[in-house]
Amino acid sequence: MVGEFEYGAQAVLVASGGIGGNHALVRENWPERLGTAPQDLLTGVPAYVDGRMLAITEAVGGTVVNRDRMWHYVEGVRNWDPVWPGHAIRILPGPSAMWFDARGDRLPSPFLPGFDTLGTLDHLRHTGFDHSWFVLNRSLVGKEFALSGSEQNLDLTERRYRDVLRRPITKVPPAVQAFLDHGEDWVTADTIGELVARMNALEPGTPLDPAHVERQLVERDRQVENAFTKDAQVAAVRVARRYRGDRLTKRAFPLHRILDPKHGPLVAVRLRVLSRKTLGGLHTDLAGRVLDAVGTPVPGLYAAGEVSGFGGGGVHGYRALEGTFVGGCLFSGRQAGRALAAAL
Ligand SMILES: Cc1cc2nc3c(=O)[nH]c(=O)nc-3n(C[C@H](O)[C@H](O)[C@H](O)COP(=O)(O)OP(=O)(O)OC[C@H]3O[C@@H](n4cnc5c(N)ncnc54)[C@H](O)[C@@H]3O)c2cc1C
Repeated sequence: MVGEFEYGAQAVLVASGGIGGNHALVRENWPERLGTAPQDLLTGVPAYVDGRMLAITEAVGGTVVNRDRMWHYVEGVRNWDPVWPGHAIRILPGPSAMWFDARGDRLPSPFLPGFDTLGTLDHLRHTGFDHSWFVLNRSLVGKEFALSGSEQNLDLTERRYRDVLRRPITKVPPAVQAFLDHGEDWVTADTIGELVARMNALEPGTPLDPAHVERQLVERDRQVENAFTKDAQVAAVRVARRYRGDRLTKRAFPLHRILDPKHGPLVAVRLRVLSRKTLGGLHTDLAGRVLDAVGTPVPGLYAAGEVSGFGGGGVHGYRALEGTFVGGCLFSGRQAGRALAAAL
């Protein structure tokens, strides 16, 4: 901060984003239904997403509703090459990785990779631990892991279409390989014994029993040959592969034994909760006018985007639909902008 200034205007539109960069605010508003807030929380948004404008807008009469509506991801890993302080990345997983809680127990169905973000967050927040594990092998990491964030997908963002087309034949994309090489949450090994030893070195407070982890992997691997399997995850991989897109890109990799050395080495990834989206926020009407405690518009005050829960304090309800956040932000901005221009 180098100084202060004051600027007068006929109207003000607050569009300062959510609260995910402010861990204190995330914990303070953490919903009871999702257990306790993580102590070890990763940051999945830029530092400016600090929620400061909420209190500032409240101070001039605006109200905040649905403060406890948030959308965080459980597949967070620390970025080895951070863009913002504490920068973490979400793994967008295909269906095959085995998912274990901090005690080494496989997560029950339907909490399978990529299935139910809030349901899995709820489940894991009730285990009493802040981390969980993906266990898989190099073939699966290479084909089924995508990394969220524009800087992780330079082939797309820089329009290197040849590289995009090469994705299905690239064994491990460079951005994913960089995490395998440098990521603090990633360990690899040729045997389960060595792998679990490396996992335990990362989390010495909750050591896993290698025999317990191996038994569950072997049990899952036996089901690969069983056409009538009752293993929900193996069945889900078969269903995913019926979709031609996932089959051709190998985003749902052909079923095989995870412990098959041909697909090795084995890989484990420590996952922690990553803060991301804010679904509550400034209470507005449909024109984006900020409302006070009795529902009357505060003169000249508008809000749009994530700071108003994408337009009004929770247009998406508790269960936001993946990938529809930007759309709601843009739409609420359009509504507020039009109303504001008409009022001037
Ligand atoms: C890594 C990542 C991946 C995402 N992927 C998707 C996706 O695939 N699909 C999807 O729909 N959504 C996605 N989102 C969410 C989506 O990007 C956000 O919901 C959306 O950008 C929010 O838009 P906004 O304009 O409300 O706020 P922001 O884009 O956060 O912009 C807020 C602006 O306000 C400024 N600001 C903040 N505080 C102040 C202040 N006090 N004074 C002045 N200026 C201030 C900031 O500098 C910033 O420019 C993703 C978000 C992240 C972080």
